[in-house]
Amino acid sequence: MPVEKRNDNEYEIEFRNVSFKYPGSDTYALINLSLKLKIGEHFAVVGRNGSGKTTFIKLLTRLYDPQEGEILLNGINIQKYDYVDYLRLFSVVFQDFKLFAFSAGQNVAADVHYDKERVMECLDKAGVGNRIRKMSKGLDTPLYKIDADGVEISGGEAQKIAIARALYKDAPFVVLDEPTAALDPVAEFEVYSKFQDIASDKTAIYISHRLSSCRFCDNILVFNQGELIQSGSHDELIQDEDGQYYKLWNAQAQYYREDPRKSRLHG
Ligand code: ADP
Repeated sequence: MPVEKRNDNEYEIEFRNVSFKYPGSDTYALINLSLKLKIGEHFAVVGRNGSGKTTFIKLLTRLYDPQEGEILLNGINIQKYDYVDYLRLFSVVFQDFKLFAFSAGQNVAADVHYDKERVMECLDKAGVGNRIRKMSKGLDTPLYKIDADGVEISGGEAQKIAIARALYKDAPFVVLDEPTAALDPVAEFEVYSKFQDIASDKTAIYISHRLSSCRFCDNILVFNQGELIQSGSHDELIQDEDGQYYKLWNAQAQYYREDPRKSRLHG
C-alpha cells in the first residue's frame, strides 16, 4: 500500500523486538531491538565496530527484513508499504556515499532536471556553495576529471555535497553515517554541527564513530554485540562507570586531548 502523504510530516517509526541474522550467518547482528524514533528527535548511534549500527540502518531502510519482531511506521508494519514510496521518507548519507560523474548540480538533485536556486541554497547550507560558485561552470561543472572542465574535489567537499543532496531531498528522516577515515576530529565535529542544523525539524540519526562529535546529542544509543545496551545524554551515560559508554569514551578520550586546539573544542 502507498505511504500516507502527510503535510505535517508526522511519521513515527517503532522497532518492536527486532532480531536479525545476515543470510548464511549463524550469529545475530541485531538482538531484540526495541525503540521508537519519535518525530523531530535526534539520535546518535555509537558502539564498537561490528556492534550493529549499520545493520540497524539497513533494516530501517529495508535493505533487509528482520526474521523476528517487526518495524512499524505509524503503527503499520513497514513491509506492507510500497517500497519506493517508503524510501521517499529517508535521506541517507552513507559512509561510502557515491558522487556521480555528472555535474555538481545534478549530483545534488540526483536528477538531470533540477531547481538551480534550491540546489545552490542546499550547497550553501552544507558549507560548500562558494567552492562550487568559483568553479568555471558553476553548477554545470562536472565532478571528477571526466573532461577538460572537470574538477577533482576533496573527500571533505564530497561529504558536504552528499549532505546537500540529502537536504535537497527534504525527507522527514535523515540518516548520516559519519565518515571514519576521511576527516579529522575537528572537521568531523563541523559535519556533525551542520547535520544538526539541517536536520533541525526532522527525525535524525547520526552514526558516530568518534564519541566526541555527538556529545551534545540528547539521545545517544549505545550498541554492543547487536544489542542496544544504553541510551541517554552524554552527561547521563558518562556517570555509569561500569557502562559501555564510559569505556568507549575513555578509550577515545586520550585521542581528543592530544592536540590542545581539539581539546578546547571537545571540552
Ligand atoms: P557496525 O556498523 O556497528 O560496525 P554492523 O552492523 O556492520 O556493525 O555489523 C554487525 C554484525 O553483523 C557484525 O558481527 C558483522 O560482522 C556482521 N555483518 C555485517 N554485515 C554483514 C554481511 N553483509 N554478512 C554477514 N555478516 C555481516
